[in-house]
Amino acid sequence: MIPSLVQFAYLIATGLFVFSLHWMNDPKTARNGVMAGVVAMTIAILATWAQPVIVHHFWIVVALAAGILVGVPLSQVPITAVPQRTALSHAFGGLAAGLVGSAKFYLWYGEGPEQLTTFRVVAIMVEVLLGFLTFTGSLLAAGKLQEVKWIPQRPVTYPGQNFMNLALLLTAIGIGVFIVLNPGSTLAPQLFPVVIAISLAFGVLLIIPIGGADMPTVIAILNGYAGLSAVAMGFVLDNKLLITAGALDGSSGLILSLIMCKAMNRSFTNVLFGAFGQVQAAKAGGEVKQYKAETNEGAAQVLEQSQLVVIIPGYGMAVSQAQHKVRELYDQLKKRGIDVKFAIHPVAGRMPGHMNVLLAEAEIPYTDLVEMDDINGDMPQCDVALVIGANDVVNPAARYDKSSPIYGMPIIAADKARTTFAIKRSKNPGFAGIDNELYFADHTWMLFGDAKAVVGDLVKELSGGSGMH
Ligand code: NDP
Repeated sequence: MIPSLVQFAYLIATGLFVFSLHWMNDPKTARNGVMAGVVAMTIAILATWAQPVIVHHFWIVVALAAGILVGVPLSQVPITAVPQRTALSHAFGGLAAGLVGSAKFYLWYGEGPEQLTTFRVVAIMVEVLLGFLTFTGSLLAAGKLQEVKWIPQRPVTYPGQNFMNLALLLTAIGIGVFIVLNPGSTLAPQLFPVVIAISLAFGVLLIIPIGGADMPTVIAILNGYAGLSAVAMGFVLDNKLLITAGALDGSSGLILSLIMCKAMNRSFTNVLFGAFGQVQAAKAGGEVKQYKAETNEGAAQVLEQSQLVVIIPGYGMAVSQAQHKVRELYDQLKKRGIDVKFAIHPVAGRMPGHMNVLLAEAEIPYTDLVEMDDINGDMPQCDVALVIGANDVVNPAARYDKSSPIYGMPIIAADKARTTFAIKRSKNPGFAGIDNELYFADHTWMLFGDAKAVVGDLVKELSGGSGMH
């Protein structure tokens, strides 16, 4: 009775996981997607717990309490820290898979060699290798993104690096093959920790040559690895739900990393081995160019006279949490019958969908959020392009400067608008560490200041001045 109920519950949970991902495709259904995921996970935990083979109820309660203790504060990190928070989740997932695989190996070894079938040991080796490398790799990626002081942000490279990494990986695989072929040998339990140690080291070595700028992409790749290690864990534990959930997780992580690579015009291998971020250090200096600054009052007057305003948000809007003020600005402009659109670059901010999430939080209608490819054709008709804390995603150098680290990345054509106002705090560059010629262009005026303060000022000008015009 219980086993068939459990299988039925697993089937429901699998369906909900699939729908959860599907509903995430559209802002209209995204909340349902989150709910479906939560319900599916709850069903999965309860159905697993209800099985008679589970004997350690006490330890499950301890694990749940520990999970809640860690999970609740993790859910409250600011949205700018979500990429590193996600990396931490993958680290925990990888660690769990690695530990379960190791425990199962020693348990079965103790029970006798007949338990260690080739299939089981292969699954355990894959689980342990991917799980532990995801653990250290994700921890390091989170640390780089959080800009932890003692972790270098720049890529760390040395001669023969790829060769050494490959040699290490092959050693781990070699030992793994030995254990698969001789699971009952007295050497196997001694060699097993060596595989764990190499996997832990490999996670670190894989991530150190990658610069901070590529970390979100790498985190998506690590998400893929964590999912695949969960698949292997599903085979080890003979749990079908774990296999399907892990496969969904793994494939969506890998697909996401491909989408991000495409949006930055980078290849997978270039992200993993390109040491992006080194070139930037050498690019500092050069001639000093002139910016033109405008007052918020002057900018408000130009905005008021416009027919089409395109707002281009970037990482700075997230940093200053300006989205609610941006909503007020949107309302003020709409009130005057001005057409307002938001141009969304796929990698604006620090994670995919970063801008969509912030603008949705401020309840800006998603029908006014336009993808980069759809808005670029309209930019020449745009009276004002209002760049709010975006930099790399509007840098025209991406179109033609072959020496630029962002060369080839598709950009939002803010430079094609009749007038451009750019809000940022200083003359500092963006994430890629390079100057942006858009800011020196004839039709561009800078509105220096914190995004929230400047947009707040614009709103004040428009709401106070609305009777005078
Ligand atoms: P950028 O990092 O290029 O620029 C952000 C700008 O915001 C900075 O120039 C900064 O200037 C300004 N800023 C920061 N804080 C504030 C504030 N409080 N008020 C006003 N302005 C502020 O961001 P973009 O969004 O344009 O580009 C994203 C970059 O991140 C790209 O290079 C992309 O490739 C990279 N990336 C994105 C990923 C993603 O998934 N979204 C993944 C991997 C990489 P100042 O300091 O002068 O204020």
